[in-house]
Amino acid sequence: MTDNTVKCPFCLAETEYGSQVCTGSNGQHGCQATIVYGATPTELHNTFKQTGFSVFAVVMLILFMGPTLLNSQFDWSLTPMFGTGIWSMAIGVVLGVWLGLRSRNALENSMRGQVRFFRHMANV
Ligand SMILES: [Zn+2]
Repeated sequence: MTDNTVKCPFCLAETEYGSQVCTGSNGQHGCQATIVYGATPTELHNTFKQTGFSVFAVVMLILFMGPTLLNSQFDWSLTPMFGTGIWSMAIGVVLGVWLGLRSRNALENSMRGQVRFFRHMANV
């Protein structure tokens, strides 16, 4: 394998770097596997979505349950939702989007430069 080609783990053909499909080169015939460089858009989107929803759920849980738990524990009188009211939703969304983007970018960075071959593009 040279700097300018990528080697397919399935058919062992070498294809020009940057190609989206295993086509082979120099007379070899590739297997038409899909070549992906780094994380796929679906992986990035799913990571963003999963992290975002999880963070949102945790924030909502804390805002809903927190005052009640703290009040009963310490004999405080915190207002429901810590007084955030309707803003609790916005807080959850903002934190969810922010941390969702962070985890999406972390995945993108960790997979940068990786060349991956897929015979079936079902879920990537
Ligand atoms: Zn191949």
